[in-house]
Amino acid sequence: MKNEVIAKLKEGKTFVLFMHLRPDGDSVGSSLALAYMLRKLGKEVDIALDGEVPELYHFLPGSTIESWLNLKNKSYDFAVFLDCGDRDRVGEAQAIASQAKESINIDHHPTNTHFADYNWVDASAAAVGEMVYELIKELGELDQTLATYIYTAIITDTGNFMYENTTGKTHTITADLLKHGIKPSSIAQAVYENVPVESLLLLTEVLNTLKFHSNRCIATMELTQDILKRTGASSLDAEGFINYARSVKGVEIAILFYEDSESSIRVSFRSKTYVDVARIASILGGGGHARAAGCTLNMPLEEAKIMVLEVSTRELKA
Ligand code: 5GP
Ligand code: MN
Repeated sequence: MKNEVIAKLKEGKTFVLFMHLRPDGDSVGSSLALAYMLRKLGKEVDIALDGEVPELYHFLPGSTIESWLNLKNKSYDFAVFLDCGDRDRVGEAQAIASQAKESINIDHHPTNTHFADYNWVDASAAAVGEMVYELIKELGELDQTLATYIYTAIITDTGNFMYENTTGKTHTITADLLKHGIKPSSIAQAVYENVPVESLLLLTEVLNTLKFHSNRCIATMELTQDILKRTGASSLDAEGFINYARSVKGVEIAILFYEDSESSIRVSFRSKTYVDVARIASILGGGGHARAAGCTLNMPLEEAKIMVLEVSTRELKA
């Protein structure tokens, strides 16, 4: 629980913090914030990430993370997982966790598997950034850098306060962040108005694959290897594309298929008002939130599409 986690963070001297695969604003913002806070308290902190921090978040101080492979010979008091519903969300970097004496799990996914020694899971938190804000209040004081990290985590996970997870508490926390010298317009510009041109070219290709199913209640799009080759873009450039499919009038479930390879298909799900997509993703071996979830299927794209549509159609009618 929260108090136990606070006690362990105070007690530990060396930490390794984990970002999840293809980190989003919440993963990057909340890990950088907790790392910065713990370092301010004189603790030694490394951040482990299988992959790269997307360029979009490079405006955040400290977002250049050295390869997790360089951490292989180190030992730690605690391994801290942030924004990870399960251990596998950190990919290969998981190997580093065994170099820590104990593990801590700070997360807001309702499907969280409570995989660590100390688990604080709050599914009512809009972002892990909100939870880290609470930890900062207990461990020390906010400053402009911490407020920038937390604000980025919150706006990205709430779709700028637009999604159902936004609460009064979200706004109370944000009001406090604004008292610490951050400018929402500067952060919004850095995050939303700094789109690489490759990303827009990719969007035109992905929008071309838009298809509707079940009386236009389900919308699917796909990002194939062929599209990536043609545009020279990376699948990281597709951040937020799925929202175009969900934004269509009448659409309840939006699905984006990422063809990572011939036999590995990552699937993103979003719903608009009532379908629990975390349930759909869980049935398919993944997880997430009621309105945003994902899974990976080890099969060719055409097979994955059939399986995902079958489960989604069933859940739409349930
Ligand atoms: P996205 O579509 O942005 O990749 O992911 C949406 C949500 O689903 C995120 O909250 C993410 O944590 C969760 N998610 C995505 N892929 C997986 C997965 O393979 N397993 C689990 N447990 N959650 C996932
Ligand atoms: Mn999150």
